[in-house]
Amino acid sequence: MARAVIAPRIRGFICTTAHPAGCARNIEKQIEVALAARSTSPKQYRVLVVGSSTGYGLAARIAATWGYGADTIGVFFERPPVGKKTATAGFYNTAAFHERALADGRTSININGDAFSHEIKNQAINIIKETFGQVDLVIYSLASPRRTDPYTGEVYQSTLKPVGGSYTGKTIELRDEVITEIEMEPATEEEISGTIGVMGGDDLRLWTEALLAADALANGAHVVPFSYIGPELTWPIYRSGTIGKAKEHLETTTSGLNALLHSSINGQAHISINKAVVTQASSAIPVVPLYVSLLYRLMKEQGIHEDPIHQMVRLFNDHIGLGTQAKLDDEHRIRLDGPELEPILQSEINRLWDLVTTENFRVLSDYDGFKRGFRQLFGFEVDGVDYGEPVEIDAEV
Ligand code: NAD
Repeated sequence: MARAVIAPRIRGFICTTAHPAGCARNIEKQIEVALAARSTSPKQYRVLVVGSSTGYGLAARIAATWGYGADTIGVFFERPPVGKKTATAGFYNTAAFHERALADGRTSININGDAFSHEIKNQAINIIKETFGQVDLVIYSLASPRRTDPYTGEVYQSTLKPVGGSYTGKTIELRDEVITEIEMEPATEEEISGTIGVMGGDDLRLWTEALLAADALANGAHVVPFSYIGPELTWPIYRSGTIGKAKEHLETTTSGLNALLHSSINGQAHISINKAVVTQASSAIPVVPLYVSLLYRLMKEQGIHEDPIHQMVRLFNDHIGLGTQAKLDDEHRIRLDGPELEPILQSEINRLWDLVTTENFRVLSDYDGFKRGFRQLFGFEVDGVDYGEPVEIDAEV
């Protein structure tokens, strides 16, 4: 037991402390959104979320639990508290999720470890077999800088670089809060294959094959990983860059898994293309914080802003919740990113992009909203939390 007043310790796109009360409040706010849109489920819904502690995976777990009364297993990789050192935000998020889920009569089982390993896959499968028998839905929401291949031991590193040519463009230097020109050299073949090794579809395939082999997927089960496309403005560093190559691989893998699941258990696999939001993963991508700051300003002004929980509520209610049918684009993808890619909105972002400078970026964009959103990921600057009060650092998931 250790109580302390906790302050944010931020360097660039990293915050090394997290506030348990702020994280718990964030969970409550997301639960309110899910409850407001809840649906009745025709049968007990059993869901596995891989990457369940922050961002889109956490929001999906909350949307399933309070929107559909689901029982869930969450897999994540988070640092627990040690003495006076706080846990990571994802650990506190999960502790708050777990406590509230149990209080509301739901099953919540947490697995903290490397989802890329055989060990964690086997642990998850054993728990599914012992507790649920099978799962109806697998949400796959991992974002990681590296992955160890469970067969060869090779460590793949993910790189955020353009492919085929260098890129020069604007970005916000988060540490000094200035607009700078970023110059990025094209990725090498090794960097491209390393990024595909981490964020491509190999691990999703291993999860799906292992679940199928163990008969842990129910008849008609759905497997749903996440991807991003975004506007042309970000393509050089995202969609046409190393991460985009990995996402293409994930999307192609998902199509193959769709055929496999269809023939074996009458199941399906569809990638969901989500909109850009502030998460720990997206804040680390050059150019994206400036783009998101402009996007947030315009979407908020138009009353169409969405956080991950709003997107995940939409994903369940319109596409993957029990009793719904996924609506797909020409390439068999679920598209949640329509409002983001709306042409008039994007042309306004392009116009502002040309104008934005260190002197005016706080006025032209919602940088303050981005910054607050980033701090809130770690439980700071959350309404209703008294940050002068000591809080218990210790927590369990
Ligand atoms: P995030 O950083 O908020 O969450 C990543 C999750 O992965 C966390 O739960 C973390 O614990 C878990 N994780 C990481 N490495 C792990 C490991 N080895 N073992 C177990 N768990 C591990 O990320 P996010 O932004 O929510 O991204 C999730 C997915 O959504 C990614 O596929 C991303 O490309 C996609 N997406 C994100 C955005 C965006 O703007 N953030 C937009 C569209 C799609």
